[in-house]
Amino acid sequence: MLQNIRVVLVNTSHPGNIGGAARAMKNMGLAHLVLVDPLQFPAADASARASGADDLLANAQVVATLEEALVGCSLVLGTSARDRSLPWPMLDPRECGGKTVEAAATGQQVALVFGREHAGLTNDELQRCHYHVHIPSNPEFSSLNLAAAVQVLAYEVRTAWLAGQAAGGASTAAEAPALATMDEMEGFYKHLEATLVQIGFLDPANPRHLMARLRRLFARSAVDHTEMSILRGILTETGKAVRGEPHKRKEQ
Ligand code: SAH
Repeated sequence: MLQNIRVVLVNTSHPGNIGGAARAMKNMGLAHLVLVDPLQFPAADASARASGADDLLANAQVVATLEEALVGCSLVLGTSARDRSLPWPMLDPRECGGKTVEAAATGQQVALVFGREHAGLTNDELQRCHYHVHIPSNPEFSSLNLAAAVQVLAYEVRTAWLAGQAAGGASTAAEAPALATMDEMEGFYKHLEATLVQIGFLDPANPRHLMARLRRLFARSAVDHTEMSILRGILTETGKAVRGEPHKRKEQ
C-alpha cells in the first residue's frame, strides 16, 4: 500500500536535500522517489545525507516535467509554505496523512509534491494539485528545510497507516470507481481550453483565472473514468457543432 505513494521533488538545487528526503522516506516506510529536473543528481552529497537509504536514490525516477512525474496518479497533494493568490482546498499534515493512506489503500496512486528550496512550487504547479498542504509553522519563519518538510508528511502518512493497521488493515479497500488519473485530467484540460477558445468563452489574450478556477472545480469533483469519457464526449461534440459537422446522435 505504501508503494502507491510517491514523493515528488521539483527542481531541487541541493543534492543533500535529496539524500535527506530519501532517508526521511525510508525511515517512514516510503520508497518511491521521483525527481523532476534536479539541478545535480546523482551526487556524493545526496548519498552522504541518505546514509543507508541509497537504495531509494538508486531507484529514484528522474523526469523532465511535473506532468511526467504525476502519470498514473489520481490524488496529488502539493505542499506550500505560504498563501497563494487563488485559494485552494487546504489540508494540514494530519489530514494529508489520512487522505493519502485512504486513497492508497484503494489502489490509487498518490503523489506528495515538494518545491524548490528558494521559490517553492509555482502557481501553475500548485494548480495541478487536488489539495495544498501547509505545515503550520511559525508565520514569521514559515519555511522548513525541504527534507524536514518531507519528514513531517512522511511521518503523518506512517501514523495514518499504523492507525489503519491497528484497526484491522485493509478494510477500507472499497469498491469506489477508479478516479481519472492526472494524465487523463491534463488531456481533458487541454481539450477544454481549446473548446472554450473555439466557442468564444475564453479569450486567449485575456485568460484571467478561468482555467485555474476550472481546474479547482474539477479537482474537487473526484472525476471517475466514466465521467471523464462523458466530459470528453461533450467536448468532441461541441467541437463538431462549432465546425458545423454532423453530430453523433442520429436523427430519428
Ligand atoms: N521560499 C519558498 C519555500 C521553499 S521551502 C516559498 O516561499 O515557497 C522548500 C519546500 O519545502 C516547499 O516548496 C515545500 O514543498 C516544503 N515546505 C517548506 N515549508 C513548508 C511548510 N510550512 N508547509 C508545507 N511545505 C513546506
